[in-house]
Amino acid sequence: MAYVINDECTACGACIDECPEDAIAEGDIYVIDPEKCTDCASCADVCPVEAIHPE
Ligand code: SF4
Ligand code: SF4
Repeated sequence: MAYVINDECTACGACIDECPEDAIAEGDIYVIDPEKCTDCASCADVCPVEAIHPE
């Protein structure tokens, strides 16, 4: 399991500093590395457009 970012992402940057595993990469749409994600949900809690969900 890992959290995933869907195409609702507006690249606002709010999630990236919340990740304790440094699993989120910047881009036109941000991307979570499933090898690093521990399902803590910290990123999903701060996303203003609810683009982050458990896979
Ligand atoms: S769920 Fe937690 S570990 Fe996974 S990407 Fe979000 S903040 Fe990082
Ligand atoms: S907080 Fe949400 S909208 Fe902002 S960069 Fe992360 S996934 Fe994209």
